[in-house]
Order: sequence, then C-alpha cells, then structure tokens
Amino acid sequence: MFLNDNYLVRATAFDGRVRALAVDSTSAVRELAQLQGTGPAATAALGRVATGTLLLGATLKKETHLVTVQVKGDGPGGTVLASANGRGEVRGLVGNPRPAIQETIDGKLNVSGVVGTRGRITVIKDLGLKEPYNSTVELVSGEIGKDFAYYFARSEQQPSAVGLGVFVDRFGEVVAAGGYIIQILGGLDADAVETLEREIAGLPHPTTMIRAGESPEDVLERVFGKTFNVLDRSPVRFHCPCSRDRAERALILLGPGEIDAIIATQSHQGHSDVTCEFCGTNYRFTLDQLTALTN
Ligand code: ZN
Repeated sequence: MFLNDNYLVRATAFDGRVRALAVDSTSAVRELAQLQGTGPAATAALGRVATGTLLLGATLKKETHLVTVQVKGDGPGGTVLASANGRGEVRGLVGNPRPAIQETIDGKLNVSGVVGTRGRITVIKDLGLKEPYNSTVELVSGEIGKDFAYYFARSEQQPSAVGLGVFVDRFGEVVAAGGYIIQILGGLDADAVETLEREIAGLPHPTTMIRAGESPEDVLERVFGKTFNVLDRSPVRFHCPCSRDRAERALILLGPGEIDAIIATQSHQGHSDVTCEFCGTNYRFTLDQLTALTN
C-alpha cells in the first residue's frame, strides 16, 4: 500500500479566482490496467485518460453526475474511454489494449503512439438532465494532458494547466499515477498569472512527485505555497456499475430480431454470455431467458 495513495484534493487559491485539483490515482489505474490487460504504453494512455476524467468528475456538482471522456485518435490503440462520477469512481477501456508499437521513445512511454496524433476528444457530462452535455474538440497532441487543456480552453473557455502521468515498472506494473488541473476562473491580474504560470512550468512530472512520496496537497503547495484552501479530500477508486439488470436492458435494446439471431447462433451451447467490456464480469442468459426478453 502506498502512503499517499488514491485520493483527490479540491482547492481554491487567489481568493477563489483559481481552482486547483490534484489526485493520486495509482491503485485505480493499476486495477484498470489489470482488467484491460494493457501493454505499458496503453496502460499510460488509459491511466492518463482515467486520471483526467477523475479530475473532471471532481468539478461535477453532484455525486451522481457522470462524465465520460472518449479519445478517438488515428493510432493502433483505438478508442480510449473513461467514465467517472462525482463520488470519485472510475472505469475505463482501450479498444486495442496491446497494439504493436514501440512502447517507449527516449525513455518515455509512447502514449501518442497508442492514441495517434489526429482525432477527437469528446466529453459527455450526464448531469441528470434530459439530454447529456456533449462537446468535441480536435486532438492536439495525443499525449492526453495537452488534449485535456485544449478541451478546457476551447469548450469551457477555461484557461487550464493540466498535468497527467502514469509510471510503470519494467514488469509493466503501475507504480504511480496521478495529476492536477489548475484553472484561472477569472479576475486575476497579469502579474499573478505570470507567477502562477512560472510555478506550474517548474513542476516536476506528476509521477516524479508521487514516486517521491508527495501527496496531492504537496503538489499544490509547490504551486501556491501555503496560500491555498482545501475544499475537500475524497477517495478515488475503480468501480464498475454493471449488473445483470443492465446487461438485460442492453439485450432488450438490441430488439427481438437481434436476440433471435443470438438464440439461433448459440442454440448448440444452450446459453449466451454478455461480458462487461469494462470489468470482464460475465452475465449468462439461457435460451429460455433470451426468448423471454423478446416478448
Ligand atoms: Zn462491469
């Protein structure tokens, strides 16, 4: 167990003109990587998207609100996707968890080699309203942190500094994952902006700080000194809300024709399995149960 593992800090600074979020997501990302069976660079891609999504989730007003970030690039990893709610629960997946790529370049995990450098990042916020909020911007780097920053600037008109990182050891195991988002909410004078930018530019990589045993508060202290106010600290963890009920509803949504087709192809083994792509849980339906869903 890591000392500072797995919680998120929400804070403000400069009399509420700056919002600052920092998270250690090591255990959650380790579990995501194990469930998805990702290679090292895909682990980093998934972990960065998941960590950014957790940070975005912490900006939601209610615990039940949900944010999904979908990164669709032209790389061999396919779509990288994560969902987080306001309770700090996250799940995620990678289209191709073990793409044939060079895993590291100059000692760094080749995240843009997995994701690609052209494509889109889509943020879907389910705020309990009739329609979810939905916004898409172009990818600018495929390294994820810059892509989140660009999303905030373009879609939310929110100048933001975003740092996201995942460190894996030589066995491919996640040793550290975490990140931060620092946003200017408005009304900050040019000198303060300059100071802030300088401090953020001087920050070590997120996983360097985590591996050195620094907590999310320590990361914020590097930027703001003692002049930030912690609003709250909340645990973050992997959690998949799938259930047999949801699997059943997904089948019903396919429609009777599709279900009949499943019954026809699975009749030799007498059942069909619905497997959750996020956590791998298997839900088995007998042919009789499937037939019942068509009525
Ligand atoms: Zn699941």
